Amino acid sequence: MRLQTRGPEVGVCNICGKTARLTEDHIPPKGCPKVGQAYLMDIMGLIGTKAEKRSKRFFQNGVKYKSICSNCNNVLLGSEYDPELIDFSHLLKEKIESRLFLPIQITTKLNRVVRSVLGHLMAHGIDLHRKGPDFELLTDYFLNSSAPWPTKLKLYCWPYPSNDQVVIRIAGYVSVRTGIPNSIFTLIKFFPIAFLITPDNPPESSFSYSRIDPLLTADIDDEILLTLPISNIPRIRWPEAPDKFGMIMHTPYSFGASRN
Ligand SMILES: [Zn+2]
Repeated sequence: MRLQTRGPEVGVCNICGKTARLTEDHIPPKGCPKVGQAYLMDIMGLIGTKAEKRSKRFFQNGVKYKSICSNCNNVLLGSEYDPELIDFSHLLKEKIESRLFLPIQITTKLNRVVRSVLGHLMAHGIDLHRKGPDFELLTDYFLNSSAPWPTKLKLYCWPYPSNDQVVIRIAGYVSVRTGIPNSIFTLIKFFPIAFLITPDNPPESSFSYSRIDPLLTADIDDEILLTLPISNIPRIRWPEAPDKFGMIMHTPYSFGASRN
């Protein structure tokens, strides 16, 4: 299967649902710390469980999807939300590189950062407007700048010091201990940050990460102090690769991009 990243010239915008000329979304957005060249592949290729040759697709500078209208791309993301994510990413990169082993604290307009991340998450993939569990809630939240975070969902993040990108619209975790599916999650990771959304709990682990949805407010410009761990952060392939705690069930909407 060739990984599809280019939608039609005119189609339904993944974010707002309007039929319009489609434009290219970049993950991560231009202006974030440089990621360089990347090969897009399905998740099994990234985590190394199968030889992945033919479906790899090369991108010179971040992965692009032609999937959203120019209003969502240039106005909502480009002007409203991406600048805050870009500033936040550079601050976080500096903190990670300073190698001071104290929890990272950054004050940011977190309501904007989160909407930027959600916009790029929704832009990933072709013809996926409101498709997938909880994307109705996330779409409504993104499109209304004064909406509260959906109470059904929890949002987590942690520093992610890798150039490998992962975008997973929906995956499931099954605990080895119980044998039952006990976490459905959505994941987006690009240097230097990872975000996980779940109505349940994150897959079991002994790692440190921060739950941030209780910090979000209805005022888009609130300056919010975010604290992130710097020690015992999740390993690079968590949680998309299985481990001693459990299995991960992927769907066709799990992708990775690596420099290799
Ligand atoms: Zn749109």
